[in-house]
Amino acid sequence: MSRQPTPTSPRAWVEVDLGALRRNGAALATRARVPLLAVIKADGYGLGAVRVAGALEPLDPWGFGVATVAEGIELRDAGVSRPILVLSPVLSEEYAAVRGASLRPSLGGASTIAEWARTGGGAWHLSIDTGMNRAGIPWTEIGALHDTLRDAVPEGAYTHFHSADLNDESTGEQLRRFRCALEALPSRPRYLHAENSPAIERGEASPWDLARPGVFLYGVGGGDGATMSPEPVAHLRARVIDLRTVSDGDTVSYGATWRARGTRRVATLGIGYADGYRRALSNRGVVLLNGQRVPVAGIVTMDMTMIDVTDAPCEIGDVATLIGRDGDDVLTVDDVAATAQVLSYELLVGLKLRVPRVYVNAAGDTAAAAVEAAPATLR
Ligand SMILES: *Cc1c(COP(=O)(O)O)cnc(C)c1O
Repeated sequence: MSRQPTPTSPRAWVEVDLGALRRNGAALATRARVPLLAVIKADGYGLGAVRVAGALEPLDPWGFGVATVAEGIELRDAGVSRPILVLSPVLSEEYAAVRGASLRPSLGGASTIAEWARTGGGAWHLSIDTGMNRAGIPWTEIGALHDTLRDAVPEGAYTHFHSADLNDESTGEQLRRFRCALEALPSRPRYLHAENSPAIERGEASPWDLARPGVFLYGVGGGDGATMSPEPVAHLRARVIDLRTVSDGDTVSYGATWRARGTRRVATLGIGYADGYRRALSNRGVVLLNGQRVPVAGIVTMDMTMIDVTDAPCEIGDVATLIGRDGDDVLTVDDVAATAQVLSYELLVGLKLRVPRVYVNAAGDTAAAAVEAAPATLR
């Protein structure tokens, strides 16, 4: 893609399409037919939690899910006023900070629930473990909480699926356990929720009150068994910062793993594994350049990645797309993650802050245009 450089233009950046993100959110809400508890932990899966929260505002989500108290405080400091649920267990020493920022903790044990109530209480959600064995009260032990829960009534209760993307029996079994656990509660909490992205993509209208998607919002999904797929949201770009012709037999990069057969043209992109472009993409990755797919040549280095541009038009300053869309072609996060043999989630959250996030609101979302008036702005 060709693009006018600006004096501040970095050598690599992540273009975050907030319009696409919002449309992905709208598609999820339409499918689940309940309000979203949008998961924006890990800085909005690396794309910028505050901007993501702002972009989802027009969808009127119930609230936002984060992993840590600090993530919740960041949102409050930025003016986010909707409910924020901390999904990971919080330590009792964090309760004051949780309350100070009006966050909702996830609690899952008699002593933590009692401690929360004793130190002042406030809205909280009961985390019920139906097989993940990571956090929450085991579904078989809810009965023991009966008295505690009569005194400290949770606003919500939820469980988390471990294999909703695998299309196996486990999600159904976890649902059965969740229903069982809910029956053992002294009263029905106002907000019940369970589905993550893979469950929504494979499901119908939610039987619960909220849906709790994360990764689909950011353009990852649509795998086996899914009946909806997201628009790409993250576009990783890097500029050509060097260009040379190499002769037959010349090698490229560390370890000399790539060797020219005949005369080749090799371009250097200003991005490397210190930016989150995985070293595992060495000699395997492809990038989009001026309407063509071109291969990574040699080992990805910390700050630079070489590509073989013999068959593509290429000049210094050109912009290559390493993830995302360029013209009619797309390298999805899933595609690149598969080539790098990492999880899509890992690739996305692994994009380093050295790569600035540039926010755009692509056409096709007029309602959003008023909300996100700003064009590409550096964060
Ligand atoms: C991360 C997380 C989610 C979102 O999961 P996705 O697969 O990204 O949709 C939902 N619920 C909990 C408890 C989580 O930790």
